[in-house]
Amino acid sequence: MESTWDLSVFYQSFSDPALLADIQAIKAMTAEGNALLAAELPLQEKLERIIAHLEALSNKLSRAFLYCQLTLAVEAENREAFRTLEELSALSVDAQVLRSACTRFIGELDDLESLIAGSAKLTANAFILREARQEAKHMLPESMEKWMLRMSLSGGDSFQKLRDQLMGTLTVDFQGNSLPLPAIRGKAFDPDAAVRKAAYEAELAAYPKVALPMAFCLGGIKGEALTLCEARNYPDVLTQQLAESRMDHETLDAMLTAIREALPDFRRYLKAKATLLGHADGLPFYDLFAPVGDDVQTYTIEEARALIADAFGKAHPAMAAFMDQAFENRWIDLYPREGKEGGAFCSENHELGISRIMTNFVGSYGDVSTLAHELGHAWHARCLESAPILMAQPPMPLAETASTFNETLLAQTVLETANPQRAFSMLESSLVEATQCCVDILSRYLFESAVFEARKTHTPTVEELRQMMLAAQDEAYGDGLAADTRHADMWINKGHYYTVGLHFYNFPYAFGLLFGLGVFQRYRKEGKAFLPQYDALLARCGSDTVANVAASIGIDVRSVDYWRSALDVVRGEIDEFVTLAQKQAAR
Ligand SMILES: [Zn+2]
Repeated sequence: MESTWDLSVFYQSFSDPALLADIQAIKAMTAEGNALLAAELPLQEKLERIIAHLEALSNKLSRAFLYCQLTLAVEAENREAFRTLEELSALSVDAQVLRSACTRFIGELDDLESLIAGSAKLTANAFILREARQEAKHMLPESMEKWMLRMSLSGGDSFQKLRDQLMGTLTVDFQGNSLPLPAIRGKAFDPDAAVRKAAYEAELAAYPKVALPMAFCLGGIKGEALTLCEARNYPDVLTQQLAESRMDHETLDAMLTAIREALPDFRRYLKAKATLLGHADGLPFYDLFAPVGDDVQTYTIEEARALIADAFGKAHPAMAAFMDQAFENRWIDLYPREGKEGGAFCSENHELGISRIMTNFVGSYGDVSTLAHELGHAWHARCLESAPILMAQPPMPLAETASTFNETLLAQTVLETANPQRAFSMLESSLVEATQCCVDILSRYLFESAVFEARKTHTPTVEELRQMMLAAQDEAYGDGLAADTRHADMWINKGHYYTVGLHFYNFPYAFGLLFGLGVFQRYRKEGKAFLPQYDALLARCGSDTVANVAASIGIDVRSVDYWRSALDVVRGEIDEFVTLAQKQAAR
């Protein structure tokens, strides 16, 4: 089995005439699209041609972009890839302006519904056409749009770049060495308690160096969001973000209500973990990720592949066969190496019907789980191939459905034969993730809400931001977290608060985990009979609202009861953890 991925399906090299021709074609297509919008044509034909044009443009952009991004992911220093990516980024701004013009055109059509009804092409794309009509109501006037985009380059965008620079260059003094922040944060997983504590203290000591400019970055970005939200005629930023996530307030409220109800259970878990680690009054922030139990089993890639083949072969043979092909056809870049970035991801190309997965496999169970997770994304893309390209992108809350399903399925399979120590350690890892996705996410949601509220009148100071963060952590973690070791500067650490145009990027995490768990519960109950429904659910993730997609398998995401039942899975794990932890402590 080859351990690197094959990118030659995209292009042969950065001087491949096919790539150069595609870049020229993308340039020409923007101009052609504008000409099409100005042309005198029968409306139905014109709309059909606009859709076809946007589809072709998406295909071309996606292939060229992927080639650059995937290359850079494993060869950070590839200058040709970087140069081509910059060229494509500039072209994609023009493509974005064209898409906006198309949205405006759709918004101005008198009778969109009869145009849709009279055309197979338009019927197939009905959801995004109707969505564009809603979006058009919130667009800036054409004369303003370009200037607003440019103003943001010197406003929010500059603040975001400054933030990236400050965080990228921030070093932390740790035991006589100067370390980058991610290396220090990574020590939260260290088996040595003293290392975890010292790293946390060193991290907090480093933030004052950047706190003032970071407060201005945050104030600038959130202030711009409030201005744009008003200009776009949304009542508030949350409503805008929910609309862009195809989610409604009712769904968010139902989910948050169930999460709040589950907080006492999460605190039981945190306190049990605290006791296990020798803390009397709640878990210190620096021990949230502390490893518990001893999970020493490691896997070669062949063993990992066999485990995945076994678990999914029994559960979902079609998916297992697909995964096998992904290994066989060099879809995956497996191992860490110099110049390759960290982490893992999966990228899909709709036109070619392929995905590419990057991992940094070193052989832990977590690495096997990551492979299953990313292969879940690839399977999701395979299911979405039947949808037109403009409806093949799931909104953020649904994007982690297949990956969560796969991680859960793999864990269940391994747990069936795991020894007690291993089972305990896996259970704890699962609870660390659930606590992040529910409790920490709630604190981030509360904090971001407070920042927007304050920013309506002024730029919050460093001290105000720290107080807001502590209040948010207090409300979410309560006495589960030790009162004297919290993290007042998490607003500096988390990059999500600073992404221009993307706010409240917290609730989709909670949704992703709890929805994925709920879907998995259906599979547990109904077995293989559920699989056709499951695949159909994945296939429609890009062509309906979140609530309607969930309703297609009988899940009502607007009801608190649904979220309660998903959280019951976590509650069950917490009960088991608390029992096992007490046994351990009694030894
Ligand atoms: Zn994922």
